[in-house]
Amino acid sequence: MPSSSGETRKTWPAIWNGIKCRCPRCGEGWLFHHYLEQVDQCAVCGEPLANYRVGLILPLLVITVVGHIIGFVMLEMELRGAGSPLVYIYVLVPLAIIIPLAILPSSKGAIIGLLWANGWSDEQDR
Ligand SMILES: [Zn+2]
Repeated sequence: MPSSSGETRKTWPAIWNGIKCRCPRCGEGWLFHHYLEQVDQCAVCGEPLANYRVGLILPLLVITVVGHIIGFVMLEMELRGAGSPLVYIYVLVPLAIIIPLAILPSSKGAIIGLLWANGWSDEQDR
């Protein structure tokens, strides 16, 4: 999709760069300072990234993914006869904590990539 500057922005490469926690434009600069703190602009290409806010789509995406994974594991445990309450506590509770923490940065990066590719920034609302 062409941006306001006339540059063509491809959606899937931008999302892939975001999944790798890299700038959606150049794929080189880091997208986050720390764990989830978004940079104001890319350190390599200077692309302004502060106005791409993921909002509530991030927890919705993460909960959907984690819910499917936990549901699949729970179903597999039941089908294999390992579905006791104690096993659930020792397997599913750590999974329900570790998986969201692991996929949050990549999920946020993917959403920022999608927003960037389509030019959906907070700046347009002003
Ligand atoms: Zn960049």
